[in-house]
Amino acid sequence: MSYTIVSDVCEGKSDCIPVCPVDCIHWVEQGGQKTKNVKSTDYTYIDNETCIDCGACLAACPVEGAIIDEWKPELQKV
Ligand code: SF4
Ligand code: SF4
Repeated sequence: MSYTIVSDVCEGKSDCIPVCPVDCIHWVEQGGQKTKNVKSTDYTYIDNETCIDCGACLAACPVEGAIIDEWKPELQKV
């Protein structure tokens, strides 16, 4: 299983990236440029094949609802 970053709620604060013990949170990019979401901010995604469900990212994220503790691929754009 995996946590999910809700692409349209994330505000690109990146607090989640350094706390992930398996380095599975990445910026969404295209052609080397960070992609913007509906809030016009950079955003991140979780590699669901690597995530170990530890919850550190959710605890670190300052944005309510940006990370959820289950795998919902339809909410996470990559
Ligand atoms: S999920 Fe939360 S901590 Fe991670 S980049 Fe988005 S807003 Fe920031
Ligand atoms: S739940 Fe843990 S392993 Fe999964 S993305 Fe968040 S910090 Fe990384």
